[in-house]
Amino acid sequence: MIRVGKLNVSLDCREQDSDINFVSHAHSDHISGAGRGKKVLASKETIELMEIRGKHGMEHIPNLESATLINAGHVLGSKQLYAEPEELGASVLYSGDFQMQAPSVAAPIETRQTDILIIDSTYPDPSTRFPERNRVIAEISEFILSRLNDGIILFGAHSIGKAQELIRIANDTGTIPVVDKNIHLVNQVYLRHGVALDYVSFYKDEEEQAQSVLQNFMGITTMSKLHKTAALLSSLYKKKVYTAVATGFASTFNMRTHAQFVLSDHADFAQATEYIRLCSPSRIYTRGSQESAKKFAENLSKAGFPAAPLPSSFIGNSGTNKAMQHL
Ligand SMILES: [Zn+2]
Repeated sequence: MIRVGKLNVSLDCREQDSDINFVSHAHSDHISGAGRGKKVLASKETIELMEIRGKHGMEHIPNLESATLINAGHVLGSKQLYAEPEELGASVLYSGDFQMQAPSVAAPIETRQTDILIIDSTYPDPSTRFPERNRVIAEISEFILSRLNDGIILFGAHSIGKAQELIRIANDTGTIPVVDKNIHLVNQVYLRHGVALDYVSFYKDEEEQAQSVLQNFMGITTMSKLHKTAALLSSLYKKKVYTAVATGFASTFNMRTHAQFVLSDHADFAQATEYIRLCSPSRIYTRGSQESAKKFAENLSKAGFPAAPLPSSFIGNSGTNKAMQHL
């Protein structure tokens, strides 16, 4: 939580007793505490994506005096929060999830110099190194074109962000993917905000869908439905179904698919240190699961950065300046 003016602002809904929730973006682990009657500081795009996730009746706060939302390069509408809380006497930047090389379907990241940086800890280990993004995109394109000769391709992807990036990659190869209902609904928000996507929905375009599946085709479905949908398509069309994923976790885990591509909408450790240098904070607080925040702080400290896990007392409810005790 950080204090902005007279308000306690929770960071991605972690704290229940705040005046306002700042929601950096609409991925489910960042929106769980938001809902009917709650004040939500977020971009318009994030609010629309949250509504698809069943979060209705929120009071949208697009701006707050003495706080600024800046692009995070993660997914559509993703923002960082920059503030200069009076009681702290120092500027604070909260990164949320961020990516230094923005996907083609998200606005590029902006950085800002800050005294205190609260940073996401998704990839806390220096051994996690993502390959060059354009090379991965070229590999995915090649996979799409070659496998479509033999059968059906089915990607499992996060419905916000990764699915749209895969559609763009497919479109650049001349392929129009077929997507499930969740992805279709998210696509509608992307389209409304000017992101061009050429796709067919299994959910809506029945005629187009019937045409699309006459030949081999590329499908994209929500990650959790990948294997079930692959089995269904295989029995329905009597064709080989090639499964694939595109995620940063493919760098460390066996995803049990025919192909796995390391395409992330997060920063790896090296990108995170590049981001930190650009923000030049005098203090860094890592935020995430207890384990990854601790690990990230340790690894950043080893690399010479002044880092520690974010204390739960950071700008506590009392309004006293507890954060300064940690500086
Ligand atoms: Zn995210």
